[in-house]
Amino acid sequence: MSENESLGARKVGTARDVATDPSVNTTGSARGALTSGALPVHAEDVGVFLERLAVSSTDGMSEEEARRRLAEHGPNRLPDPPKKSALLKLIQQFANPLVLTLLAAAVIAVVVGITAGHEESFLSRFGDAIAILLIVILNAFLGYYQEQRAEAALEALQKLSAPNARVRREGRSVIIAAETVVPGDILELEAGDAVAADARLVQTIDLATEEAALTGESAAAGKDALAVVTADAPLGDRLTMVFTGTSVVRGKARAVVTSTGPKTELGKIGEMIRSVEEQKTPLEERLDKFGSIILKVCLALSVVLLGWGLLRGGRPLHELLLEAVSLAVAAIPEGLPAITTITLALGMQRMARRGAIVRKLPAVETLGAATIIASDKTGTLTQNEMTVRKVFAGGRRYIVTGEGYDPSGEIQDDQGKDVADTLPAPLSYLMATVALCNNAHLEQSEEKRWVVVGDPTEGALLTLSAKGHLPRESVAPSHSFVHELPFDSDRKRMTVITRDDRGREIAHVKGSIDTLLPRCVKYSTDTGVRALEEADRVAITEEANALSAKALRVLAVCRRVQVSKDEADVERELTFLGLVAMMDPPRAGVTEAVATCKKAGVRAVMITGDHRLTATAIAQEIGLWEEGDETISGAELAAMDDAELAKRIMSLRVFARTTAEQKLRIVRAFKARGHVVAMTGDGVNDAPALREAHIGVAMGRGGTDVARQAADLVLADDNFATIVDAVREGRTIYRNIQKFIFFLLSSNMGLLVAVFFVSFFGKWPPLTPLMILWINLVTNGLPALALGIDPPDPHLMREGPRSPDEGLLQARDYLGIAYVGGVMGLCAILLYGMSPQDEQSLLGARALAFSLLALSPLFHAWSCRSPRLSLFSSRPLISLPLLLSVLASAAIHLVALLVPALRPVFRTYELSPDEWMILLGLAVLIIPAVEIAKFVYRRLYPAAPTELSGPPSLPAGSAAKAPRA
Ligand code: ATP
Repeated sequence: MSENESLGARKVGTARDVATDPSVNTTGSARGALTSGALPVHAEDVGVFLERLAVSSTDGMSEEEARRRLAEHGPNRLPDPPKKSALLKLIQQFANPLVLTLLAAAVIAVVVGITAGHEESFLSRFGDAIAILLIVILNAFLGYYQEQRAEAALEALQKLSAPNARVRREGRSVIIAAETVVPGDILELEAGDAVAADARLVQTIDLATEEAALTGESAAAGKDALAVVTADAPLGDRLTMVFTGTSVVRGKARAVVTSTGPKTELGKIGEMIRSVEEQKTPLEERLDKFGSIILKVCLALSVVLLGWGLLRGGRPLHELLLEAVSLAVAAIPEGLPAITTITLALGMQRMARRGAIVRKLPAVETLGAATIIASDKTGTLTQNEMTVRKVFAGGRRYIVTGEGYDPSGEIQDDQGKDVADTLPAPLSYLMATVALCNNAHLEQSEEKRWVVVGDPTEGALLTLSAKGHLPRESVAPSHSFVHELPFDSDRKRMTVITRDDRGREIAHVKGSIDTLLPRCVKYSTDTGVRALEEADRVAITEEANALSAKALRVLAVCRRVQVSKDEADVERELTFLGLVAMMDPPRAGVTEAVATCKKAGVRAVMITGDHRLTATAIAQEIGLWEEGDETISGAELAAMDDAELAKRIMSLRVFARTTAEQKLRIVRAFKARGHVVAMTGDGVNDAPALREAHIGVAMGRGGTDVARQAADLVLADDNFATIVDAVREGRTIYRNIQKFIFFLLSSNMGLLVAVFFVSFFGKWPPLTPLMILWINLVTNGLPALALGIDPPDPHLMREGPRSPDEGLLQARDYLGIAYVGGVMGLCAILLYGMSPQDEQSLLGARALAFSLLALSPLFHAWSCRSPRLSLFSSRPLISLPLLLSVLASAAIHLVALLVPALRPVFRTYELSPDEWMILLGLAVLIIPAVEIAKFVYRRLYPAAPTELSGPPSLPAGSAAKAPRA
């Protein structure tokens, strides 16, 4: 359906709109050369430009032509920044202190091999060195593979939030991927849009763009399709052009794309295209620090051991060195960084599948700590599917029947009679006004369902005027478009000026009652227009309040005849026509999501542009509102100073009629109370608040490009429930990272205890470096990975959020690590001590200790699923990934133990059935040991600490206000 045929068609034709002049508008596509005029396009007269191109800004290009041009010009994207080569990435895996320590161990092992007796086989002399090297290489490949996977996951996510562009194709306005925009396309731009390509403006209404990316100038630059620009004007002065990489801050425009991709001005600035700085998340930074502390502790212990060995004397230096390195290797959790990266990446993929696309990696962990979710109302908590239910005009009430955007329905008076064919004057003016002051279109989908293209509020108004038998098609022919003062959430109103058949310019105005009623001086009644009395104002306000209290969204409709678009303020001395009240039901699942927030100790608040009564009524309907909560309006907020706001912020639940600037104040007030704030936003003006919030959340469907670019998280479905899902996922990821860190460190502690004490007091180290590495990287690695994807703990959303200052591990965990390490280490020492201390028995003792320290963690992993609950109360009881990983690790270990060819390498021997029994008995022992410790802990601390406290830095009293389970 072409624009002119669609139900919402609009007749445009203006001095600033040469593009639609029929004399210029001859073909359906842009055929001419875009740059072959005598002058550069920015200096060319717009009429000449369009004539040369033979372009239609109404119809745009055919899809076929667009495909042809895409093949010819290539995709509209800047060349990818240079990527690190695979080889370089692989080499970088070695450049970390842990790996370097391992390489040092390998060198020492070679020296030991060379100096060992020549009667021994090559494998038994150099087996250690070879195996260490193999493990280091394997580790590097594993790290590389995981990094690649994480990168691929991130890239895929970035594609999900890739920008779109609105263009005209085959007579329709369509949204396409910005990458597929081609030269000659007609871009339709409005406030909040990112400009997808360099383009020559052909129609502008009060347009301004922000061009900092290109010119460094961050102030908005006004643009005008008809401006006279010299051929040599610098970029910043080309008022007739818009450029890739800039965004629209105000107004509307149509523009013909002149160049795409690398040929754009942005593409030409080579140095702009540098690789994105690799940014480490706070978690990764913390892990790095953690790793280096562990390394230092280990090195210190190794030096102690070496010094002690030298003091005792009687053993060659290389052996002592090897022993010291083994110790270092024993304690360092080599797999930690790689497992963390992959856990984060997989978590982000899971979030994306649920519609929460993470744009900035640190958001994943911050989400888990969120204590406030400040959400928009319309579209996020409600469906943004508007249906007009009631109209108030000329002092009378009307009920509107029908569903959705379907134009069939009646407008009934208080007798229940349809008045569509006998509309009283105020009502008919109202119908015409809402039809003209409107940019939406209604279309019938293939399933014959009426859908709105554009703003749902305006769609509902088109349906209303159709029900009143005054559809836009019947009104528009007698009005030609003159000018528009676009809607914006801060102004809360919109005006369209048209010229009617009699040559009068008329302003058609609609917007919030509080901004418009004070601007009204006349009142349209059934008997004619008269002055608006004070009593009328009171009656209208009461009517609006009564409608709002029913959760209806109320718009005032006004007009003024005989205006001039050049007046400083057109929206004054208006005639009040009536009120339109529309319903926007809550989204499915929102009530449940709000309840989940409450249980999870996350305070959900509503920040909306809508009326306080409407907003409060919706808040009550979805269970957001609690006894003692307050609603504050933008005006009240403006009158309040920061100190007072800080005092009251925790009792404010609904912020109504707010401006974007006030959103910023609200975020800051919550932050000052120590809260971690997630805030939604969709408009251009929301960008600063989105940046200020810990987690800026933008809308994938309804929001603007500018908001999306400022956000950390984009909601594919614009749904509040998705934010709550993302919080759950954020908590799960953080918890899982804690689980595997605890697992790796506690298991390593077992190794450390065994190696340190036996080396210190015994004659030979209990394990060879190779055995230690084997346990550390091979048998422990798989269960750690599985813990990283452990299913979410069912209690997770019944506990309060973790404190943002909380370290990765708490005092409880450090105690746990020492305890588990003590139990595992002692069991190994016991096995080792049971064997006679001669060289003959050494092999047997080592094989036993080796197997114990490899198998015991496979049982212990199950206990790591919860720091306080019994492993038997974990849900699901059996985690399949963990089960598979444990079985795989056990099988791998048995290979090392049982394959005769590997015996010289691992220096093991075949265990007898009795030894197996003892070994398994001691390995399982870790489960009851940890169960007892958890039982004692639960007795000492009946509730998890997170359930007891809010954010630690909150002043007394504020945490108690946050809802708790
Ligand atoms: P939220 O901020 O939660 O999304 P909202 O959609 O009501 O809620 P805005 O879009 O900022 O917030 O709208 C603020 C007010 O402006 C509305 O309550 C309404 O009175 C008025 N309004 C909304 N849309 C239009 C429009 N298209 N034309 C004129 N006025 C409008």
